[in-house]
Amino acid sequence: MKTLLAVLMSLLIYTANAQMRVHLINVGQGCATLIEFPCAAILIDTGGETDAQYNSSEALKAYLDDFFTRRSDLNHTLKCVYLTHPHKDHTLGVPVVLTPPYVIKNAVTDGLEEGSGKAGQIKLHRAAQDSEDNSDPSDDIGFEAITTADVGVNGITNSVIDAVNCTGTDPTIKILWGTSATNPGWTDIDFKNANNHSLVIRIDYGASSMLVTGDLEEAALASLLKKYQGTNLLDADVYLTGHHGSKNGTTQELLNRITPKMALIGMGDLSRHVLWTAWAYGHPNKGVLDMLQKSITTPRQTIPVKAGTGAKTFVDYSVSKAIYATGWDDSIVLEADATGHWSKIDPHAEPTPTPNIVPGLVNVNTASETELETLPGIGNTKASAIVKYRQRHGNFSSIEDLDRVPGIGPATIDLFRAYVKI
Ligand SMILES: [Zn+2]
Repeated sequence: MKTLLAVLMSLLIYTANAQMRVHLINVGQGCATLIEFPCAAILIDTGGETDAQYNSSEALKAYLDDFFTRRSDLNHTLKCVYLTHPHKDHTLGVPVVLTPPYVIKNAVTDGLEEGSGKAGQIKLHRAAQDSEDNSDPSDDIGFEAITTADVGVNGITNSVIDAVNCTGTDPTIKILWGTSATNPGWTDIDFKNANNHSLVIRIDYGASSMLVTGDLEEAALASLLKKYQGTNLLDADVYLTGHHGSKNGTTQELLNRITPKMALIGMGDLSRHVLWTAWAYGHPNKGVLDMLQKSITTPRQTIPVKAGTGAKTFVDYSVSKAIYATGWDDSIVLEADATGHWSKIDPHAEPTPTPNIVPGLVNVNTASETELETLPGIGNTKASAIVKYRQRHGNFSSIEDLDRVPGIGPATIDLFRAYVKI
């Protein structure tokens, strides 16, 4: 009996430790963000920068090959590929992910077919169409084109946008922004700028969250803030810095709403002095770094970097907050558990364990502090508070009763509800 309990406890610990990992892949100037869940993976944008000195599609393929070797359980499957907008630095790698062994189950774009990266976007649109047209239903790619008019004040989600269904902690994926079919009151130049029609994507994994604003510029960011005024949908732990750290891709008002713990920047190495690179654009901008340094409280070991003050113009800069950029850090992996705890890890770390849900294993009326600590959202202090409360007031009669324990509220209860019994 004791052996069985030990096995079950180890399964539970395995589950409670299940994690989400955000991989910002170094694809040069551009973005490709692989998000790894215990049961699936999704990809937001495909990079990147290609010039005489660098090939982002090779970099993307090498990273994905390495990733799927470690996560062989995922069978090279991307549950969804999202393209924020049809610019080259986001769509260039589409042919990589449309080529076997990779399998795409769903695709979400802003639906537009104009822009420097339209070839990749159109290729994805046609692949989704062709998969529906042929007689084999097993290769169907679900598809959604998002217009902002379709997006309500709670964002939009469905089985294509959020195709990930993990047991244990199941992530929630929402789209908050897409194409504006009519001009929301911007200048003509802003309205014609594909950046302003980028998808905005929010991912929640238990109490951990991430926000991707694509390449939205100031006019669209102001509209986004207005749309979600009075909600907490923009409040996120990790901010994938808009428009590669361009000065027009992040505003103080936006950061005030996100209150990020960490920021990521997809911009690539500054050593390549040719067109369409971070060097050519001056990424990331010093003003944006100043705002991030001020807004983020999480520290990192101080590193010397270059901050852009204009195209091809940089000054020396010191980053001491949790701002990670592909230009300084190469590919970056951030890991989150379901309780809002994030850390930066080695990109080649072993795979996230596959969860084995053991519902109702821990009896909150009899469990020891050590057993309670295995629950998601329960650390040392809360485990001790539960035991003290139980000693003083007797047994809990429902899971909701745990709300009376100091330090435990409905959000924490939701994290461990599936794992406990009375
Ligand atoms: Zn871009």
